[in-house]
Amino acid sequence: MKKQACCAYLSKVVMGFISLLRGMGVTIGYFFSPKKIVTQQYPENRESLQMMARFRGHVSMPHNEKGEHFCTACGICEKTCPNGTISVLATKDLSGRKVLGKYIYRFSQCTLCNLCIESCPFGAIVMGKDFEFAVYDREELIFTLNQTQENANG
Ligand code: SF4
Ligand code: SF4
Repeated sequence: MKKQACCAYLSKVVMGFISLLRGMGVTIGYFFSPKKIVTQQYPENRESLQMMARFRGHVSMPHNEKGEHFCTACGICEKTCPNGTISVLATKDLSGRKVLGKYIYRFSQCTLCNLCIESCPFGAIVMGKDFEFAVYDREELIFTLNQTQENANG
């Protein structure tokens, strides 16, 4: 057992050293050829900037090409959220079936913990990749996620 722990420790030391050398390689490479850009040129690359796969911008609700979402208004995410960031306002359709009326998301309260997304049984919400949300009034950070740009304008 002691030998295993020792091997794991040594392996971490070696990996750390390799990682350090990789980083130094980038720095030294830039020193000799400074024209080769190795960092994100933000904000000049704002239009083409791709955020990392695990980046957590804010909670968002994807819609398909017909403008439909997958939320059933079950309210699990609302109950899971530790700080009341989400309000799921259900309503009924013409056949009396419970459907989503409004999905309110208060971004200024959200800690981006991801619990709501993990709890959703239907994959109806995801972490968006948008950024640059600086505003003067926090009221502007209250979003209705089931309202797409098209139906908001229409
Ligand atoms: S987003 Fe998911 S968990 Fe939240 S109300 Fe809709 S279906 Fe339920
Ligand atoms: S990410 Fe966390 S804080 Fe934000 S709405 Fe989801 S559960 Fe709440």
